[in-house]
Amino acid sequence: MEKKPSINIPEEVSRVPEELKKAGFEAYLVGGCVRDVLSGRKPKDWDVTTNAQPEKIERLFANTFYENDYGTVGIVNEDISDETLKVIEVTPYRIEGKYSDKRRPDTITFAKTLEDDLKRRDFTINAIALSIEKISGETHKFSIIDPHGGSIDLTKGIIRAVGKADERFKEDALRVLRAVRIATEMKFVLDKDTEAALIADGDLLGHISAERIRDEFVKILMSDMPADGLRLAHKLGILKYILPELEEGIGIEQNKAHAFDVWEHLLKTLQHSADKKWPLHIRLAAILHDISKPETRRKNPSTGEWTFYGHDVVGARKVRVILERLKFSHEIIDKVTRLVRWHMFFSDTETITLSAVRRLATNVGPENVWDLMNVRMCDRIGTGRPKESPYRLRKYQSMIEEALRSPLTVGMLKINGTDIMSICELKPGREIGYILHALLEEVLENPELNTKEYLENRANMLAKLPIDELKKIGEKAKLAREEEDEKIVEEIRKKYWVK
Ligand code: ATP
Ligand code: MG
Repeated sequence: MEKKPSINIPEEVSRVPEELKKAGFEAYLVGGCVRDVLSGRKPKDWDVTTNAQPEKIERLFANTFYENDYGTVGIVNEDISDETLKVIEVTPYRIEGKYSDKRRPDTITFAKTLEDDLKRRDFTINAIALSIEKISGETHKFSIIDPHGGSIDLTKGIIRAVGKADERFKEDALRVLRAVRIATEMKFVLDKDTEAALIADGDLLGHISAERIRDEFVKILMSDMPADGLRLAHKLGILKYILPELEEGIGIEQNKAHAFDVWEHLLKTLQHSADKKWPLHIRLAAILHDISKPETRRKNPSTGEWTFYGHDVVGARKVRVILERLKFSHEIIDKVTRLVRWHMFFSDTETITLSAVRRLATNVGPENVWDLMNVRMCDRIGTGRPKESPYRLRKYQSMIEEALRSPLTVGMLKINGTDIMSICELKPGREIGYILHALLEEVLENPELNTKEYLENRANMLAKLPIDELKKIGEKAKLAREEEDEKIVEEIRKKYWVK
């Protein structure tokens, strides 16, 4: 056992094994969190394993809940902002019974020893236990229990199955995908035997539920090198269980403007979205935006050039089917299909009109316009073209902001023409417009005046003025409003340094 002085475990975590040990049980941090801590990464979640039974675990902590599946007890840390520390999961040592569905053991049996528990884990780097011993106050002594050589594989950068790889993949086929996902996240390589078994057993992924596959797929997408991950999945013959449509793009050459085939272009677009640290829906749109290029490709007989007419429309439909199959949320499906549907938007800042930008915003949804811009930038880089000129980018941004801003209109008022007619007992006529403009001017000066009560009062006063005087006030207000509007547009353009 070796001492690891640089290890830093949050108090919210270390208190859990400490309490268990005080009560006379064994308790260790185990699994992904140990792997991540030993390699200087931030764990996504924290797991503790112990020889205590679930009821005993529950009794030791104030706020717990019972997760019946594996006898796991969640220990809740209240009032903590770090998502990863909210629930610490404590699972009794276990061995697994027979698997008949390639995914879940038919029976869960508690194990007597830590060693038995480590034996049932998937990869050596995930089968290290970390013992924490409090020496005094903040000082802890750490030691690892590592019967499968996980810490050596961790330093060498190797994913190696615990025990016989072939047996382990046959027990639970999800491990096939976990291997690729973890290799991608950690930038590790697969051990030779593990890789051979993985290739042999890859087809067992057909037994795994869409949700489980989706979760691993998302983790690959959200890693630093998602393109490498999908390439690896393809090489090992398992991409067809995640996104077979992507492989249809292999060898689909495009025109001279595109340096790459569709497959390579989509991977490069995805990689750029990861380099930019964009969220999941943008990464999905990046990898899927040209998914229908293979089936829409035609040769233009006169020019001999390839065309892909309608690949955006057909693609959006196909993307919906794909994302539904993978059981993504409706919110994600909606966003990604819109981004794919509109990714071909016309974007020449020299000739595009504000109304075209406004129409685009309505189509893709105002809340998605910026995301669409980002997808487009990834698309551009993925095509092998240089970055958009800074001026053109700023011009786009300025135009979008102009198109999206709510103009200053009488519609902003808490009162309308009909209200005014009934309050002031007026018939339809010019007066109504004058009054509305005068009120808007006041509200723009002082937004607090935009209440029904105030405006009704003011309308009554204005209505009593001679028509000539009211006309003067109304027209002056309208002019002032138009000038104000222009000023706002100027401000936006100034902000982006564009004309
Ligand atoms: P992440 O960083 O995504 O949390 P992880 O390896 O910690 O990755 P978890 O689902 O949190 O994944 O699982 C915690 C631990 O449980 C793993 O490190 C591994 O020891 C064990 N484990 C998880 N899934 C399997 C599996 N399918 N087969 C065997 N052991 C598994
Ligand atoms: Mg984990």
